[in-house]
Amino acid sequence: MATAFGSVFMPEMSITWFDGSSWSAVEMVPSNSIQLHPGAHVLHYASTCFEGLKAFRHADGSVKVFRIDRNVARLAQSARLLALPELDEGFVTQMILDTVKRFESDVPQPPGSMYIRPTLFGTEPAVGKAAAPSETACFYVLLSPVGDYFAGGDRALRILVEDQGLRCAPHNGMIKSGGNYASALLPTMKAKAEHKVDQVLFCPNGDVQETGAANFLLIDGDEVITRSLDDSFLHGVTRDSVLTIARDLGMKVTERTITVDEMLERIKKPGCEAALSGTAAVLAPVGTMVYQDKEYKVGNGGIGETTVKLRTALNDIQWGKAEDKHGWLTDV
Ligand SMILES: *Cc1c(COP(=O)(O)O)cnc(C)c1O
Repeated sequence: MATAFGSVFMPEMSITWFDGSSWSAVEMVPSNSIQLHPGAHVLHYASTCFEGLKAFRHADGSVKVFRIDRNVARLAQSARLLALPELDEGFVTQMILDTVKRFESDVPQPPGSMYIRPTLFGTEPAVGKAAAPSETACFYVLLSPVGDYFAGGDRALRILVEDQGLRCAPHNGMIKSGGNYASALLPTMKAKAEHKVDQVLFCPNGDVQETGAANFLLIDGDEVITRSLDDSFLHGVTRDSVLTIARDLGMKVTERTITVDEMLERIKKPGCEAALSGTAAVLAPVGTMVYQDKEYKVGNGGIGETTVKLRTALNDIQWGKAEDKHGWLTDV
């Protein structure tokens, strides 16, 4: 049986510690443990954020990291919004590239890749700092070789359309942080148990937002419709890449709010598709929506043709099978 996504790690990771005034020299250390004070800020007040990006092996043997600038900028944004010590973006970029370089020969062949998990958190032993930032911090870059996300077979997902609860506190929407996942966990577990769905699509006030870990796109004929950027949700790099590719393919891209009513009306059309975007799966087709105990098929309820076309186009750039005309790949 294939191992679960993200459960195998390279034996070493790179790490640096902030002592309140400067970051230590980067070290390679075993990736199976870190030592923390039990009073560490992160364990009590969730001062933590992370990133998820991938490195790909090309046919000529070279290894490239996809859109590292976007992920590094988003990490800096998460850190700022969580009042964590700032990291220089050039320093983080080099640390990520050096770490992948170190394990270059372990980067899997397509359809696999090396998933990169940079992680930043507050380490100050201070349980009295509930309303104050951690003065000290740790940042590491952990690597996890991953296989084909669709190895079990590509299938259309079933999602619950939730217009009551929230994924996370609205002012935290743009932060890639464990706290937001913790907040979406129980509603998602409940939906899985009660409605046999794969994910919950959060739609606060009846406006379509995103799922617990992926952005949402509606593909209606040659138009891609997705929520415009605001600070209530995570600005996915995959979302941006798919929209760019859709424009390159001559499709119309519309970024605006979509209501649940409009979405349920549109998905009745045979040519309509819906998909979830994120680094792990790229684009995952949605075949069924459950809303107020009723089921709605998206188009024909199967895997959308355009969804697969867009996913393949993005994968082709990542694997060097199509021209990287936007300069998304960086050599390690
Ligand atoms: C990481 C994440 C995404 C997807 O972002 P990508 O940059 O495309 O991987 C979407 N939503 C949430 C809440 C996320 O944490």
